[in-house]
Amino acid sequence: MSESFDARSYLENYDGPDFRIMEVCGTHTHEIFRQGIRRILSPKIRLISGPGCPVCVTPVSFIDEAVYLALEKGCTITTFGDLVRVPGSKTSLAGARAKGALVKVVYSPMDAVKYASAHKEEQVVFLSVGFETTTPSDVMAVKKAMNDGLDNFSILTANKTMPGAYEAMGHSCDAFLYPGHVHAITGTQICKDMCEKGVSGVIAGFTGDELLTALAIAAKKHSEGKPFFVNCYPRVVKDEGAPVAVAMVDKFMQHCDAEWRGIGTIPMSGMELKDEYAAFDARKKFAIPDQKTEYKTACRCGDVLQGKILPKECPLFGKACNPDHPVGACMVSSEGACSAFYMYGGDL
Ligand code: SF4
Repeated sequence: MSESFDARSYLENYDGPDFRIMEVCGTHTHEIFRQGIRRILSPKIRLISGPGCPVCVTPVSFIDEAVYLALEKGCTITTFGDLVRVPGSKTSLAGARAKGALVKVVYSPMDAVKYASAHKEEQVVFLSVGFETTTPSDVMAVKKAMNDGLDNFSILTANKTMPGAYEAMGHSCDAFLYPGHVHAITGTQICKDMCEKGVSGVIAGFTGDELLTALAIAAKKHSEGKPFFVNCYPRVVKDEGAPVAVAMVDKFMQHCDAEWRGIGTIPMSGMELKDEYAAFDARKKFAIPDQKTEYKTACRCGDVLQGKILPKECPLFGKACNPDHPVGACMVSSEGACSAFYMYGGDL
């Protein structure tokens, strides 16, 4: 009998105390749906799709800043494709492009540097979003632009770190399914510290077997009634993480408060460039005025990301809001909870 078969059987027949576990990684959300894992879980286990998709938690004001740079400052915006359709308070980057703005989709921050190098007459801004996994590559792009003497490249930061989110969301669940790739960078100390504070979790990999095993171990530990932490992805996640990548980020960036779409400001959960690299910080370089506005929307992404409702409980789900016409960020990215529920709805 294989380990995964045991895990599956345990999850199907689980009869312990009710258990709410939150995945905080868009790839986990997507993979759990794709593997049909929700369908086999005992009714006593509830999976909550938390704020792990970088596009989903990027605030409206960030999109407004990017639109401002594109339309008012004539900058060329370089970005991953998912961000282009995320609604701002007035328009999206797709809307800005329709008005003549230059918005280029790139596949890495280094591609944006290459573009800037080949187009010295343009001011090129890369939209730097993501978590601990992707921030090192954003920093490497700044370092490359600096070494190459480029004065037409900068980044607009909305980088985030997970520990603040774990603290803010701890009340929404009984345990976290920690993202393996984030902790491959940060190591395991954060999770151990959370356990000391009474917040439980397991680090999980990304295959079906790895997810089933991590979920089964979490459910079993939960039924024992004490806070727990288990690294279920030790082949990739080491206790010390990736110290070289962490040191490089620390050299260029510092922690700051960050706004999470639909959730609000989480203290010191963001990363921004240090003052000595201000020439590469688009926010400072172009003196972007404060874009925070009262933004009224019927979208309930915030409630979805905090596990208060399922996507299908949003009145717009599948009607006014669908992948072709997303109203909120959770429907834009394929890693977003609403998009995953829409795509794999038959598994619910
Ligand atoms: S279904 Fe659409 S409008 Fe509703 S919460 Fe999800 S993204 Fe927002």
